[in-house]
Formats: sequence, structure tokens, C-alpha cells
Amino acid sequence: MTRTARCPACGGAAWVPALRLPASAILRCAGCGLGRTEPPPAEADGREQFADDPEYFRRALAEPKDRWWRRFNEAPLDALAAAGARPGLSLLDVGANVGYLVTAADARGYRARGLDGSLAAVAVGRAVLGAQLTCGRIEDAAVPPASEDVVTLNHVLEHLPDPARTLRAACAWLRPGGFLVVGLPNFASPIARAAGARWDGLVPSQHIWHFTPLALTQLVTGTGFTGVRWRTRMLSFVPRGGAGWAKWLVRRVLETIGRADNLLLVARRPA
Ligand SMILES: [Zn+2]
Repeated sequence: MTRTARCPACGGAAWVPALRLPASAILRCAGCGLGRTEPPPAEADGREQFADDPEYFRRALAEPKDRWWRRFNEAPLDALAAAGARPGLSLLDVGANVGYLVTAADARGYRARGLDGSLAAVAVGRAVLGAQLTCGRIEDAAVPPASEDVVTLNHVLEHLPDPARTLRAACAWLRPGGFLVVGLPNFASPIARAAGARWDGLVPSQHIWHFTPLALTQLVTGTGFTGVRWRTRMLSFVPRGGAGWAKWLVRRVLETIGRADNLLLVARRPA
């Protein structure tokens, strides 16, 4: 990628340095605030080191899941419900990992299934969670046009070299009026700004893009969607009690004013 590459969200070509890291730098689009890791990480787009390791997914599943982990997978479903979706709809989770969100959506009454490029994740998720998962890459997925009520992408778009292509595919898979749900780290959050290279949501070894609400809104509307609504929730686990109380309160306030560091967007395919 060259320094003058077009921004996939707003089409701008002016990038300014935002963060210098040991092995890379983050550049920021002067137009919409979208961040970009330069050079692009080697472990993005399904090439993450753990992608072929069933043990990694088994270990992750066996770890105790705090309330936060459940909220991470429930937050996109909360945003979907707030946008007017009702149980009973079909839901396709793209980049489903072992099916955490698929399982949470099933429990809420959606007809949920997932797609993931990692055969290891799909095999472990089917065996342990009984999740309905298919192994495949987004660009090759055999999803009939206008066949889905909901498509979810939870912490996926920031890993993909061409996120606009994925959103156009998702738009084509949705029925008119269908719901798109995107979750990803919010690069515009004061938490991200304050923590800099230490922010949990940055992951420059895997994330190509660092979205802001404006950048994500422009990308989504530019790929065919309408009716955009977004909200933010806390990204990392901060317990409410004890020494973490003040930290928790700061994040709770940021949620209220739409500036916490997990960004959740819902949009519709035009009816
Ligand atoms: Zn931009």
C-alpha cells in the first residue's frame, strides 16, 4: 500500500502520522479519521497464527468466560434489537470464530448460522458448541442473493484488506430491508487516544484498519446501506467493584455519550 492510497471509507488520499509503533506506524485519513497500519500486518485476513490450530480454539473455549465476554457477543445483538429486529429472523455471522455470537443469537430466537475461514475454528465450534458453522471465505461463500434477514460482522472488517468488497457482498445477501450489524474497535474513543500503542483495540499485528464512527458510517453508506444507527460499549473487561471502580465509571460515561471503545453499527439494505 502506498502512502497516497485512497481511503476506502471516504476516498481521500491525505494520510497523516498518528502513532509510531516498534514494527509499524498508524496513519490517519485526514478526511474521516480512519486509521491504517503501515506496512499492513502479515497476520491479517485469515493468516493469524492461531487460524490453523484447533488447540488454540479449544483452549479459548475452555477458559472461564466472564460477564464481559458474554457482553462482547451480546452487544451486537442488543444493537440489532434496538434497531427493531425481531427473533425468528435468519442471521448469518461472518467471521464467526467457534460460534460465540451464533450461539448467543440462537438463544435469542434467531435462526443463526456462521461462516468462518478457519477449518479449525469451524470444527471445534461444531463439536463443542454445536454451532451451525460453514468453513469458507467471504468472497467464495455460496450465499444466495437476497436470502438473509441479518448479516453480522463482529470484529472482522478491521482484518480485511478490502472491507468495502465484503460490505457489498453482505448487502447483496440481505433481503430488501435486511439488517447489517458491524462491531469493531473505536479508534476515535478517548480511551484509544489516551492509551495509544497500549490500547487493547489496536492489535497492529492483526488489524489493517482502525475505524471511527464517521469512517464506518461513510464506508457503510458508500456500499449500499441506509438507516445507519450506532452506539458504543466498553471493549475490555473493567470490573465495577474495588480498585477498578473509577475506570468503570469513566467507561460507563463514555458509553452514555457514544465515545466508548467498542463501536456497534446497524444499517439496512434499502427496502
Ligand atoms: Zn477517509
